[in-house]
Amino acid sequence: MGTTETRSFNALLAAGGTLIADGATGTNYQTMGMEPGLAPEEWLFQAPERVVELHRAFVDAGAAIILTCTFGATPLRLTEGPLAGRVRDVNLRAAELAREGAGLDRLVAGSLGPTGMLIEPYGLLTREDAVAAYAEQAQALADGGVDLLVLETIFAVEEAVWAVEGIQSRTDLPLVVSFSFDMGTRTMMGLSPTDAVAAVVPLGVAAVGSNCGRSLADADLVVTEILGAAGDTPVWVKPNAGVPKIVGAEVVYEAGPEMLAEHATHYVDQGVRIVGGCCGSTPAHVAAIAAALGR
Ligand SMILES: [Zn+2]
Repeated sequence: MGTTETRSFNALLAAGGTLIADGATGTNYQTMGMEPGLAPEEWLFQAPERVVELHRAFVDAGAAIILTCTFGATPLRLTEGPLAGRVRDVNLRAAELAREGAGLDRLVAGSLGPTGMLIEPYGLLTREDAVAAYAEQAQALADGGVDLLVLETIFAVEEAVWAVEGIQSRTDLPLVVSFSFDMGTRTMMGLSPTDAVAAVVPLGVAAVGSNCGRSLADADLVVTEILGAAGDTPVWVKPNAGVPKIVGAEVVYEAGPEMLAEHATHYVDQGVRIVGGCCGSTPAHVAAIAAALGR
């Protein structure tokens, strides 16, 4: 499967302008009826029509980049659940369903999340295991025909560097590396936006940025710092729709579509090249971002 000129992430970035990425996967599946405790990847097999439905809803909302439902699909993360040992199967299936929803003229981005393990000496994750795990997942996503890869919600600099090593050992697809700064302007491991950017930009990434995190106020500070550190490397931002609150039996994210769009517009005005949403962001949020950007 060849990548056409119109479906090249790097060509679209080089052409200038802003690219809109999609919103959340997990929180939208929950709204669509996914049982609590189920891993989103299980819906690839249990409810594939719903997976495609959400991809299509984001396309209809104006997203140019659709992420696969593979955030938890490294072999290290799948190992505890019912999909253990099915890394290739899960990633190929997700790429296929994302393409079905995205169509041929939108970009499909293969999502790779953290392993869920802490690095040595805090935990058991070694460089060797991390490199092998990300290599295996990246290979399957590339074979599934994705247009780019997004390593996202990363909080440890070592895990980022090891993941990039594993991914680049198998594919030269454009790679975005996106960190989650959920302790104010630091990641869970105390990493700053400046240090995160400095660690991965020299590795030859197509874009660098942040996703998830905590509040939009924190995201504003993080984005400014990333832009200051990224130089010519394009910046990718997918913040949560604000902070989640429990209202009755439901989890509600505080930022509605207009509020998220207001922040996203501000990021674009500052120089961010790719904007979307993370937890709590619905197709309506993406539609509001598209409208605010004049799409
Ligand atoms: Zn998130």
